[in-house]
Amino acid sequence: MRQVMVAGNWKMNGSSESVKDLMVGIKAGMSAVLNAEVVVCPPAVYIPRVSGAADGSVIKVGAQNICDQDNGAFTGEISGAMLKDVGCDYAIVGHSERRALYGESDELVARRFAAARRNGIKPILCIGETLDERESGVTNQVCARQIDAVIALEGVTALADGVIAYEPIWAIGTGKTASPEQAQQVHAFIRGKITALDADVGAGLRILYGGSMNPSNAAELIGQTDIDGGLIGGASLKADDFLAICQAAN
Ligand code: PEP
Repeated sequence: MRQVMVAGNWKMNGSSESVKDLMVGIKAGMSAVLNAEVVVCPPAVYIPRVSGAADGSVIKVGAQNICDQDNGAFTGEISGAMLKDVGCDYAIVGHSERRALYGESDELVARRFAAARRNGIKPILCIGETLDERESGVTNQVCARQIDAVIALEGVTALADGVIAYEPIWAIGTGKTASPEQAQQVHAFIRGKITALDADVGAGLRILYGGSMNPSNAAELIGQTDIDGGLIGGASLKADDFLAICQAAN
């Protein structure tokens, strides 16, 4: 039985004051969240503050990225051990904004995935196609290529230590959501591909949907057979909206 998961990616938003308020709001509504594992991913500088606020609750904390190296001369990077030290259980790797704006290759994303695993952090591997790729009919190939980079480096069983987030790039921050059927088709493809390599890993792997998920569309998306929750951007910045999505998972 796969536990539903709802993760909020706060991206580069917030201030000391606003993250405190957001955590107060989320914590206040958690008693109505019955089934979902809830994760928040603040900007790195606010992780210690958010971990402190999450203490004593079931809310888990994740990073938005993780260095592929463990320590040393990597200016500006943050290692897995450091993230663990400040209370992270999860780290997003390969978000489309990292891939598109900062040139992260499939191979670098795979190395970040590996770094998370060796530091006891669960990677949330983001994959997904551009609008051009969807219109050219290569959605499945793109997703397969992005997953294969991780399998090539770490082996298929490594996927059992993480989560995949299917995020069609054309749906991120655009208000255009994939229809439940469109999303389910890709999720089923992803699960089928992994199941063909390892039935247990495929059956147990959580595959989240991300891309303009909101309180009105969450229940139908999460209700699909192969959709095990959501990675939420914009709607995770408002406690009420985020909680409504978490409750949709009930
Ligand atoms: C995201 O950036 O991972 C995301 C899903 O964003 P949004 O919900 O705003 O589309």
